[in-house]
Amino acid sequence: MEDNLKKAYYIVLGILILLFFTKDVNIKEEFYQNIKLVENPDQLLVLVNKNNQLPNSYIPKNLESISLRYANKDKYLRKEAKQAFEKLSSEASLLGYRIVAVSAYRDYSYQNELFNYYVEEKGLEYALDCSAKPGHSEHQTGLAVDVEGENKDYDNFEDTKEFLWMKDNAHRFGFILRYPKGKEHITGFKYEPWHYRYVGIDVATEIYNKNITLEEYLNN
Ligand SMILES: [Zn+2]
Repeated sequence: MEDNLKKAYYIVLGILILLFFTKDVNIKEEFYQNIKLVENPDQLLVLVNKNNQLPNSYIPKNLESISLRYANKDKYLRKEAKQAFEKLSSEASLLGYRIVAVSAYRDYSYQNELFNYYVEEKGLEYALDCSAKPGHSEHQTGLAVDVEGENKDYDNFEDTKEFLWMKDNAHRFGFILRYPKGKEHITGFKYEPWHYRYVGIDVATEIYNKNITLEEYLNN
């Protein structure tokens, strides 16, 4: 009897492990399929992800550099996003928080180099997991920004007091946490506590209140 129980236990465990891995495979296969070319790259609510690709030559028209008080080097965002980000960082700094842009606008060829670097250094699987193919990075819109906090380590931004503040305040300045935990099957990207996207205050507030993603907001 006990042996049978053990057998049953291992069978169930095996099925669960199998389900876990195939679920992941199915999710990954859905992305980078039936890719649509983005037709409205200048729109504020432009959707760029693994199924919606920007034209190679697309460069936002009104890029402006972020004040070096709030960026680690020369970093560019679209004018409206840049102004909102500076406002966010300056209000945060009055409260004792340090929110600094470490990556903002990235052009197609830079993203191409970045993706290929990951493929060469760590393999395709890793590259697909942690980076975007060129044309599929939201950074090319000039509306996305990666930030770091007090620990000066964007990868571990989640551990900072700045992250806790951003979680409940970014929307007041028009930014959303673009790749939330548990929404990977919708966004196509792993959880990125450091990556914020400018969508304007009204949309950001609605997305925050409903706890949804940009994909869900746009019903795509
Ligand atoms: Zn990013």
